[in-house]
Amino acid sequence: CGIVGYAGSIVTPSRKPLEVCIQGLERLEYRGYDSAGVALASPGMDHVEVRKKAGRLSNLIENIEEHPLPDATVAIGHTRWATNGVPNDVNAHPHSSQDGKVAIIHNGIIENASQLRLDLQAEGYRFVSSTDTEVAAKLLGKIVDNVIAETGQPDLFEAMRRLGRMLEGAFTILAIDCRQPGIVVGARHDSPLVVGLGEGENYLGSDVAAFVAYTKTAMEIDQDQAVMISADGVTVTDFDGNIVPDPVVYTVDWD
Ligand code: GLU
Repeated sequence: CGIVGYAGSIVTPSRKPLEVCIQGLERLEYRGYDSAGVALASPGMDHVEVRKKAGRLSNLIENIEEHPLPDATVAIGHTRWATNGVPNDVNAHPHSSQDGKVAIIHNGIIENASQLRLDLQAEGYRFVSSTDTEVAAKLLGKIVDNVIAETGQPDLFEAMRRLGRMLEGAFTILAIDCRQPGIVVGARHDSPLVVGLGEGENYLGSDVAAFVAYTKTAMEIDQDQAVMISADGVTVTDFDGNIVPDPVVYTVDWD
């Protein structure tokens, strides 16, 4: 229901990605939610670090205080309003790929999740939750593996575009991959996604509340577009990979 993403510098981080996500989720609380979670990556990690809890955001924050998470360069955060699967820890987002190297968060409902899940199960993918979102997570992990097999390199941005072409229904999805710990990628269809433009850092949000504490310069992501943010750049394409040359940038009028 609420989505935050942050990409900071690997060399001289100006903020802690985890704090940016928690603070963004607090600002998105007004939307209502039943669970909350975060995922982090930094160079050298062999999996994405995921922490998630049903209930109030304070449950998640307390859990992180008791069992601290490692430092990171990129992070995503989510507050869930359950549509597919009861509100509990396992169904909370982020959801991970089979190998744990990719994690995603999702707003909306994936209408063809049941069929995709059957196809993936037939190929040996195992599911731990009853959400539509986990189907997208397992599928994105599989697509990244396909891209590596084709090109020898992970390419989460290309994988996200292919995912966007395969999903039906409404979605805003963000993903991170421990093999590319400098970027956060996203895609949207019938659900909003906004970029926050910083200096040496960039943000993503389901609305500007997610990052307005840090920057008031925002960029609209249009229907059926994918985005990649890093500390020093933002790239927007359609789901076929064509660059969107001049996305609309505006100043958030908010105190
Ligand atoms: N359909 C997803 C779920 O039930 C996402 C719900 C949301 O938008 O928070 O987990």
